[in-house]
Amino acid sequence: MNPELQLPLERRIGKRSASVIEKHLGLSTVGELLNYFPRRYLTRGELTPISKLPLDEEATLIAKVLSNSTRQMRARRGSLTDVTVTDDAGGDHVPGTLKISFFNGFRARSELQPGRRVMFSGKVVRYGGSLSMTNPDFILLDEDPDLGGTNDPEKLAAMPIPVYPATAKLTSWSIHKAITTLLDTIELDAIDDPLPPGIASREAFLSIGQAYRLIHSPETTTDWRRARDRFRYQEALVLQTALARRRSQLAAEEATARRPLPDGVLSAFDRQLPFTLTAGQAAVGKTLSHELAQDSPMNRLLQGEVGSGKTIVALRAMLQVVDAGGQAALLAPTEVLAAQHFDSIRRTLGDLASDAVFGGAGMLGQDSGSGAGSVHVTLLTGSMPTAARKQAMLDAASGSAGIVIGTHALLSDKTTFQDLGLIVVDEQHRFGVEQRDALRAKANRPPHLLVMTATPIPRTVAMTVFGDLETSVLDELPAGRAPISTHVVGLAENPGWAARIWKRSREEIDAGHQVYVVCPKIGDDDDGDFSPGETEPSDAGLSDDGLSDEGPARELASVTAVVETLGQEPALRGVKVEPLHGRQDPALKSETMTSFAANNTQLLVSTTVIEVGVDVHNATLMVILDADRFGISQLHQLRGRVGRGGLPGTCLLVTTLEPGHPSRRRLDAVASTTDGFVLSQEDLKLRREGDILGASQSGGRSTLKLLRVLEHEELIARARTDAQLLVADDPALDAQPALAAAIDEYLNPEKEAFLERG
Ligand code: ADP
Ligand code: MG
Repeated sequence: MNPELQLPLERRIGKRSASVIEKHLGLSTVGELLNYFPRRYLTRGELTPISKLPLDEEATLIAKVLSNSTRQMRARRGSLTDVTVTDDAGGDHVPGTLKISFFNGFRARSELQPGRRVMFSGKVVRYGGSLSMTNPDFILLDEDPDLGGTNDPEKLAAMPIPVYPATAKLTSWSIHKAITTLLDTIELDAIDDPLPPGIASREAFLSIGQAYRLIHSPETTTDWRRARDRFRYQEALVLQTALARRRSQLAAEEATARRPLPDGVLSAFDRQLPFTLTAGQAAVGKTLSHELAQDSPMNRLLQGEVGSGKTIVALRAMLQVVDAGGQAALLAPTEVLAAQHFDSIRRTLGDLASDAVFGGAGMLGQDSGSGAGSVHVTLLTGSMPTAARKQAMLDAASGSAGIVIGTHALLSDKTTFQDLGLIVVDEQHRFGVEQRDALRAKANRPPHLLVMTATPIPRTVAMTVFGDLETSVLDELPAGRAPISTHVVGLAENPGWAARIWKRSREEIDAGHQVYVVCPKIGDDDDGDFSPGETEPSDAGLSDDGLSDEGPARELASVTAVVETLGQEPALRGVKVEPLHGRQDPALKSETMTSFAANNTQLLVSTTVIEVGVDVHNATLMVILDADRFGISQLHQLRGRVGRGGLPGTCLLVTTLEPGHPSRRRLDAVASTTDGFVLSQEDLKLRREGDILGASQSGGRSTLKLLRVLEHEELIARARTDAQLLVADDPALDAQPALAAAIDEYLNPEKEAFLERG
């Protein structure tokens, strides 16, 4: 496709320019340079607001010279030219100034005369109280013939100047010059358009050639906007078509149908359930049951609010598969959570769980009183004692374990299954497409797959990060769920509240309830709270950004120190306080959890190991110390641990930061709502886009160029619908070779260059 775009750059812009571009930008083909889009546009006639310039990175700006003076340096030979520039265009904003120094700047000395309009490119730094630049590149705007192309002064003043991501060695305007040469030498209109003509005309898009011309060399603001709109949509369509094609390829695979058994463990389980399923649980359950019974694999994402009861939904699906003679694997992000699932699933199953180890695929004979058989549930984690782990692996391989619950140890090559029918991935956003594939490879035939998120995620994130999966949502909480009230406890403004927290804890404990205290650190000399081998229990990379903006280090609450302090705390005399963190021995961890679950321990001091899934109904108060160290989703997930048993929950977000500190915004957001969807939107707004897609998308994919997941929701949804229709009509995209090629390129950005070199 598009042989023109595959050509080495030197064939079109000459060897010298091509090698400069390759060296500094790493671009080597016509297509790569053509797709190197401006980051923004300056307007010739307008000065760039100096206060808004990014610090410490290459910036391009237009300014007016105020003064120019040169002196000889004393300490060494040479001269220093100081030029002061301003963004003062006579408007009513407070003018900013920038001090620019040139060493031996002969050209600067003669050309940068007061009154001239100049475009500079260089690094802006804050030095003392003022902004400055040293030896930037510059061009005189009122003289430069290249950038104009017109003699009409009004038109010239309104003309946008593209600003490219530049480097210290290659200015934005040199890049623009190379691209202009390229635009003049290649046949733009011969480029194949990845957009199907029907869509292009429906949207009244520019032709692709025209769009390339105008995104790089616009004459008006409308020009680049129209070009950008087109490429943005194109990007969304390529992405969504790639995902739709993958969905359809997955659906076309042959899986083993796991039909429900009228008299199986599942129906026995349903009969003994101590509560009624919510309408949402029932509806999703029906969908899953239907999809499991098909001979094409289910690939589904289950999103749900914290506490909405995803585990029961997953367990019912697993039981259907076990009834049909298959095995199910439940993959949890941490050992604590795996162990917790193991305990609570066996508890929920009651008599239906068995420890015996014969029979096929987890099904025993009709041996239990209920006459429905039972299921053998096995735990498999990396840190289990060797003998127990070997036994668990044997149970999985022989098929005697119907349900295998584990951490990523389940992914290891050594773990095999007799007949893996369903994989459930719990609370895990960091699973890319490739890891899902690795799991799928564990089964003889493609297994059914259910991915569950820890907290709800915005629709567009679901459509992009998890775009190859169908989505179900549980949006109601089981009846009788008590509300959680959340308060920010600012110790900076109210130091006295510190003591009040422990009195409040005591009140809960005296009422027979229990308390969680969460700390950001384990001990005094660490900064991590995850034991080796545990996956970070975070969500969609949505929870740990922007957390290190503190400036000078402050003493953060650690599990060890807090346990010690609480031992001395008068208000807590006689209360059993235990620590829990990822570096403890697994046996100790599970002992601690058991003791807490049985209310033998009343106050648990822990790291975020309890972030997900942990379920102790009697816990009513959660105190999060240095809460500003955690992300929004993490806090939301954490507080979901209380208020689970019909008792109202309280969450205290304790911080020592001053009221107005930016990190307190997250705390205020969490305190203001318990709606996970609202919070995840808020979370996304407070962080950079790349973190969402970068961490979660499978390796090798380029990150999005023009698309912003939050801003362009409507456009992404439109592209998704278009993509679905395209793929439904033409799964192999035979009629859309240019689109198919664009997808290949997108999925494998290395390939193009590789083919050239090879
Ligand atoms: P999450 O969706 O956060 O993973 P869980 O699956 O851990 O939530 O469920 C939270 C709690 O709610 C569990 O104790 C579970 O037994 C209980 N639960 C689930 N479904 C219902 C229901 N329909 N009615 C009452 N309690 C329920
Ligand atoms: Mg859960």
